[in-house]
Amino acid sequence: MSEELIVKCPICQTEVIWNKNSPYRPFCSKRCQLIDLGEWADEGKRIPSQGDSNDSDDWSEMPSQEPQNH
Ligand SMILES: [Zn+2]
Repeated sequence: MSEELIVKCPICQTEVIWNKNSPYRPFCSKRCQLIDLGEWADEGKRIPSQGDSNDSDDWSEMPSQEPQNH
């Protein structure tokens, strides 16, 4: 049995193989890990918002608690 557990990066939804080769799991990269920790802003890497938010639409697909009491 050599099934690989694949998770999705909570930040950018990139598939990450859960093994020793993914030191930042469940994140795909250190960058996403820092974003989640909120530390990335401290590195002076603030991304200026220039209306280029297409890439960040993915995370909104995460299951959220939508009120469905119609
Ligand atoms: Zn990621």
